[in-house]
Amino acid sequence: MQLHLVAASSSDISNYSKYKKQYFNSILNGNKSNEIKSLKKLIYYSKKLNKPTIKYKKELKLLTSNVKKVKIYKDKPVLNKKIKKLFNSTDTIKSIQVDANTIIIDFKNNIKKKDIKFTEERHRGYARDNFDIQGKYTGINKLKLTMPQVKAVKKIVIYKKKNNIRLSLRAKKNLKTVYILGKKRIIIKVLESINQKKKINYAQVMPKADQKVIVIDPGHGGKDPGANGPRKRYEKYAVLGVGKKLSSILKSRGYKVFMTRSIDKYRTLKYRTKYANNKKADLFISIHANAVPKKKRNRIYGIETYYLSPARSERAKRVAAKENKADIKSMSYGTKNVFLMTQNRAKITASNKLALDVQNNMLHNLKKKYKYIKDNGVRKGPFWILVGAQMPSILIEVGYISHPRESKRLYTSSYQNTLATGIANGIDSYFLKNK
Ligand SMILES: [Zn+2]
Repeated sequence: MQLHLVAASSSDISNYSKYKKQYFNSILNGNKSNEIKSLKKLIYYSKKLNKPTIKYKKELKLLTSNVKKVKIYKDKPVLNKKIKKLFNSTDTIKSIQVDANTIIIDFKNNIKKKDIKFTEERHRGYARDNFDIQGKYTGINKLKLTMPQVKAVKKIVIYKKKNNIRLSLRAKKNLKTVYILGKKRIIIKVLESINQKKKINYAQVMPKADQKVIVIDPGHGGKDPGANGPRKRYEKYAVLGVGKKLSSILKSRGYKVFMTRSIDKYRTLKYRTKYANNKKADLFISIHANAVPKKKRNRIYGIETYYLSPARSERAKRVAAKENKADIKSMSYGTKNVFLMTQNRAKITASNKLALDVQNNMLHNLKKKYKYIKDNGVRKGPFWILVGAQMPSILIEVGYISHPRESKRLYTSSYQNTLATGIANGIDSYFLKNK
């Protein structure tokens, strides 16, 4: 069989990211008509790229159904005069507006994400989503608002709490909220969809200054084909396909992304980690595919994620030995152990957390579309590719290239996309929890 890696049209992808950006900007600028326009485009290109559209469709429905009742913003949002009056000139907050499912808080000065803390609690049968914002205001003691267009929200209470301002959303059931941070603005959206799991793209809700750098490292390449499976399916091609898709997904979500190779070229292990260090990457993601000898081909399959640590299990040692083959000769056993000893504890803990988030999200995303998805778990392994990197790093074995069904899948564009989306979701989830 011919090896082929099908990529979505690049203009579709760039249009998709363009309208996604436009959509978020229109939310930030309070430009409702642009929000509707860009949402429609976003839905169109999401469909074309086979991405989920349900979230956008619901937003659009909410927005368009309210058009008659709510004034459409022209350039600037219409300030709610009643609320604006309540703040005086020395207050941190300039104004608060509620429109449809959205709360817009404007500030006098720039705010940082560290100024905002989000907590959830239950109190007297009510679910509370609390946003604690550092700052002060003297105008009032307590302010109650309603969100009439979202049934689930009973009220919004804003009050002073120690040195913070707390905005508390009160509801009978747990709310799904997302917040987006602009320079002088916070947008809080209440998503009423019940079945949709809360989906926040970390990069989109964070200011540009906090943009995270990800280095993707597709294993092997060039003269080093990596593992091979039936019908000459080489690891180096499958992992490049997944890596490229991951790159475009992460870019569309606002991350800064670099790849150690984006073509079929040989790279030493040293080159790869040095590259990541030079780019000052926040995360290093190495992508590989596994293999077993012919006798076991039909039995062994599944996905596993490794983070660096001295090997524990025989299995980890075996996989590590295979992946390390290229450079291992140059290191004596003594040197290797010294390397592992000097690994920073915090980096290992962070890598472990990242591995768990990525593994869980990959499995979750694949299981929605495919049968026979096997979770081989998160493991520790002594991978040299992870040794040299100064940032949290993981090595993903996206499947067994030796297994007939899995290797066939690993060569299809749609499977690669589902895998890559899962990895991207894992990265989002990691950053949302570990700032
Ligand atoms: Zn490999």
